[in-house]
Amino acid sequence: MKPPIKKNDEITLDITALTSQGSGVGHFDGFAVFVEGAAVGDRLIAHIIKVKSTYAVGVIRQLLRPSKDRIAPACPVAERCGGCSFQHISYAAECEHKRLRVQDALQRIGAFDLTVDEFLPAPYTAHYRNKAQYPIGLTADGRTCVGFYAKRSHRIVDCRACALQPPEFSAILDVIVRWAAQYGVSIYDEASGKGLLRHIYLRKGFTTGDIMVCPVVTDRNVPHIDALTEELRAQNEHIKSIVLNVNAARTNVVLGSECHTVFGSDFITDTLCGLTFQLSPLSFYQVNPAGAQMLYQKAADLAALTGKETVLDLYCGTGTIGLSMAHRAKRVIGVEIIPQAIENAKENAKRGGIENAEFFCADAAQAAAKLLEAGTAPDVVILDPPRKGCSADTLQAVAAMEPDRIVYVSCDPATLARDCKALQTRGYTLKTAVGVDMFPRTVHVECVTLMTRSQPVQ
Ligand code: SAH
Repeated sequence: MKPPIKKNDEITLDITALTSQGSGVGHFDGFAVFVEGAAVGDRLIAHIIKVKSTYAVGVIRQLLRPSKDRIAPACPVAERCGGCSFQHISYAAECEHKRLRVQDALQRIGAFDLTVDEFLPAPYTAHYRNKAQYPIGLTADGRTCVGFYAKRSHRIVDCRACALQPPEFSAILDVIVRWAAQYGVSIYDEASGKGLLRHIYLRKGFTTGDIMVCPVVTDRNVPHIDALTEELRAQNEHIKSIVLNVNAARTNVVLGSECHTVFGSDFITDTLCGLTFQLSPLSFYQVNPAGAQMLYQKAADLAALTGKETVLDLYCGTGTIGLSMAHRAKRVIGVEIIPQAIENAKENAKRGGIENAEFFCADAAQAAAKLLEAGTAPDVVILDPPRKGCSADTLQAVAAMEPDRIVYVSCDPATLARDCKALQTRGYTLKTAVGVDMFPRTVHVECVTLMTRSQPVQ
């Protein structure tokens, strides 16, 4: 179809759906037009900024009839900041969009005849994150700005009071910015690679209230660090750890590998699913612990453990899912490719007094093939891969073990649908799919599915 519009056209559009990236979609003479910041039900005039062979992109020129889903954003920089995509619609509308996204993927990509009837909204939709990494930089007129990157850009949007972060983080940012100005501590410039202070990384343990402050710097010799320590402690008595992270590399990666504790402990602690976790600057931890608990609870329900089962937790990270189920299983085997995460998983098990869990550092496919060869027959396999999903080899090896149940936790409905389809051809039936919102106001959606073995594969 030849595009019926061209760049700079202004067209009237009814928005009928949202894309997986959170943009509104409308059709002009049957041709798809994507509009960022639009809501389902909006009638608007869109200014066309890009035309491709199968779609166009527009920006809102005028809102003729706003959607009933629209609400006032809880954040003044919502439209510019790259963090949130759904500050402009009600939470109910966001959940419905996410439920449909999971259902659509399973129906269209997986060809499953299944509706997603269960969607678990997040326990909290604001201040739910326990971790922030704020870039810090200078504006053209020399002002210090600290906040978040704008969408698809490395321009920093000044935002010290993010609606998703703990409220007390903003005063901590103020202290650091003030200290840097007072003592002439230089701010990192991405273009030249010069300057000392490049990110402010903050973490909070929600159950303990403890806070870690981690300035990311290009050199460990930070002038007047004692003054900073003093001012931070005076500002917030819950700051239990101040650690410098050194990152001198010209890279987008936020953290370097070198850490130096300048005050308090090397880590803070938190509890999740009844287990205690130590959070050091480099250790992985769920950023929305309340949401994670809800997700793991649902995964455990679907796993339907009775205490007799062997559970294989593939892609186990620091072991959270498997460990949270260990008291309801006979044996838990965790597999993960990052050595440090496996070390953490072992420590987490030890700290929790869990003796029926083992952890191996290996590629999921290779580990599954090895376990199969060794005659290990898990009753339940948990899959929680990164966004790209499982490799074909992994799915083959998992199916070859013939577990009764496969519980698949996913952060990308599209790859989940693809992998469930592959498992279906290997004798598994998709029983249940539940959408879970771990990251309110952002485009991310999690889901968890249960597949059961219908017949042995010939
Ligand atoms: N289940 C964990 C972590 C899930 S994130 C939790 O809930 O916290 C996905 C994990 O898969 C990451 O820790 C990543 O390091 C790991 N991973 C990625 N590719 C892998 C592979 N090929 N084999 C094993 N683990 C892998």
